[in-house]
Formats: sequence, structure tokens, C-alpha cells
Amino acid sequence: MSDAIKTLPLVLEQPRGRAKPPRHLADLSPEERKEQAEKLGLPAFRLKQVSHHYFARLQRDPSAMTDLPAAQRDAIAEALLPTLLTSVRTQEADKGTTRKTLWRLFDGALVESVLMRYTDRATLCVSSQAGCGMACPFCATGQGGLQRNMSTAEIIDQVVDGAAAMANGLVAGGPGRLSNIVFMGMGEPMANYKAVIGSIRRMVATDPDGLGLSARNITVSTVGLVPRMKQLATEGIPVTLALSLHAPDDELRNELVPINTRYSVHETVEAAWEYARTTKRRVSIEYAMMRDINDQAWRADLLADVLNGFGDWGWVHVNLIPLNEIPGARFTRSRDDDMDEFVRRLEAKGISTTIRDTRGDEIDAACGQLAASE
Ligand code: SAH
Repeated sequence: MSDAIKTLPLVLEQPRGRAKPPRHLADLSPEERKEQAEKLGLPAFRLKQVSHHYFARLQRDPSAMTDLPAAQRDAIAEALLPTLLTSVRTQEADKGTTRKTLWRLFDGALVESVLMRYTDRATLCVSSQAGCGMACPFCATGQGGLQRNMSTAEIIDQVVDGAAAMANGLVAGGPGRLSNIVFMGMGEPMANYKAVIGSIRRMVATDPDGLGLSARNITVSTVGLVPRMKQLATEGIPVTLALSLHAPDDELRNELVPINTRYSVHETVEAAWEYARTTKRRVSIEYAMMRDINDQAWRADLLADVLNGFGDWGWVHVNLIPLNEIPGARFTRSRDDDMDEFVRRLEAKGISTTIRDTRGDEIDAACGQLAASE
């Protein structure tokens, strides 16, 4: 028997990333929390108290929840407050207003989140999966494949950490409030729909059930899983939808965003337009500018025509992202002149367009680059 065959059963017995993350308070809806209190033999108000500590006071350390009787505190901590994220390292950039954290999950998987403070808001970029299965060739995360989905609480705990960092003045500019969330870290949020929706429900719920964030300040970014985009429109939570389009034609998009071979540009943009129509929320189109790949003036014209084909009532905004170059990849960032011309062409056809700032460039804060380098 060859070595390869001998080791095969071992591999099968230990599939990577199969164990589930420990259950946490943040995984529970208010109803489930009540059920859990009963199971633990505790009055419901105790778990409500813990919930207030976690979501409103951003307190994750059970020993600091001193208004709980010690015995109950230990029981609750053991059942519902496991440590989900362990910080591996934090890097700062932009004079301390950008802060990136690499997290190790319970099973060793690595994910990251990035906190960016601006004059009028503070935005946390969260991960929704360890790795990603979408295999976009220009994206660092896409190169490693999918390890596993994150749980609702693993997503939420990133937010609670970011909110605490803001509240406790760990970000340059003094104490402040975390106001915005973008699902633009590792992973494809619509491929982990249930946990992501659960996390959004916790984000928008108010004290003691959640973090009290405004749905419009939450952006879900997707490669365009059409059925899930349609489902998201029916949830009654008007989050902002961002569609990672990157090309206006199927030929190129099939290459840049491989899921396009399943859902075409037309179907995908139609689903985005439907989302705008149903929720009355303007949709963002993300377009990473890659030199001589997708940045030709004619493609700007085509992009505008594709978008205007669904109506010109301002349902869409285009966000051009100067490509973050990943080592060893064949894609490079567009020239400034080409980016400027791209904007002019889109605006000439009535499409509102911005070029995204490149926060945290020097710490590879975008797109899974830190976790990829580990
Ligand atoms: N999977 C989701 C969300 C994660 S990526 C999505 O694809 O939308 C968040 C955004 O960063 C996406 O628009 C993605 O296309 C973009 N992105 C990925 N790699 C990039 C890179 N190297 N440079 C610039 N943008 C990139």
C-alpha cells in the first residue's frame, strides 16, 4: 500500500473546520435567550442583564459583571460567554485612525477586521467566513479557498470589539461611537446567509437585545448570489447592498468573478435593481480598477449603459476601488488618468461615482491580505 493511500483515512477522519464554534449569547434571539435561561434554571432577567452588559456596555469579561451573583455569573459565563476571538495582532495606520486586527478563532482559523475612523463616522469592516469559496483571482482571500462559515456570534464579537475600541478611546481622536459596518472583510456574506442575517438582526436590535446600529449604516457586499440577494430584499431590514461587479460584460466578469458563469451580469444587476426598488435603498456597485483589464473608457460607457438599462432614477452609485495589488498576481492598479476618465464617462451618463480612498494601504488592510500572509 502506498503512503498516500495509508494516510487517506486519517484525513477523512479529521475534516478541517468541521467542529462548530461554541454557542454564545450573541447567537441567540431574544426568544432563544429566554429558553436558554429556563434551561440553565435562571430567571429570564438575569440573561437580559448579561445581554445588556454585552451589547450596551460592550463588556465581554464575565468577572466584571459584578451585579450578578457569583455562582450564576460562572454558570452563565460557561454556558454563554465563551471566548470566540483571540487577538493575534493589531496594526495601526493613517495616524492611528485605521486599526486592523487579526483574530484566531477557536479552531485556529484566522480572520481579520478593520476599524476606520473618519471625521463623521467610524466604520468596521467585518469577516463573515474564514477564507472564501468564490475564487476571484484578484482577491487575496479568494486564493486560499473556504475554510468554514463563521457563526453569528463570531461575526458579532468583531463588532463588539470594534465598538469597545471606539468607546474606550483606543482609536486616535478620543472616545467615540462605532456607527457603520461593512461586510467587506474575509468571506462571501451571502454564502453564509443564516449567520449573517442573524448577526444583522443583533446589530440593529436595541438594548438589551442588540447593538442599536442603524440598518442603513450596515453594508452587505456580495459577488452576486442572486437568490440570496432576492431573499435579503424580503427581510424587512433595509441594509445597504453593495454588488461587486468589476466588469460590465460577461466575458470579462466570468474571469474576474467566477460565480458569473452561474448568474450573468444581466441577472445580477437586475437583482441589485430589484433590491433598490423594494427597499428604496440606493445600491452600490463595487468596481476594482485593474490596469488594462477592466478600466478602458469603452467599458465605462458599457457599465453606464448596463446600469441605466434598469432606470435612471438614481438607484445606483458606483464605487471605484483602486486595486490593492496582491503579491505575485497578474493584476495591477489602474493609472490615475484612466481612473479619472472612467469617472468622467460614468458621470457623463448620469451615474453618480466615487473613487474609494485607500485606507490602511501600508498595512494591507484591505481584502484578507494579513490573514493570507500568516
Ligand atoms: N465577498 C464579498 C465581500 C468581501 S470583499 C464581495 O466580493 O463583495 C469586499 C470588496 O473588496 C469586494 O468588492 C471585492 O471585490 C473587493 N476586493 C477584493 N480584492 C480586492 C483587491 N485586491 N483590491 C481591491 N478590491 C478588492
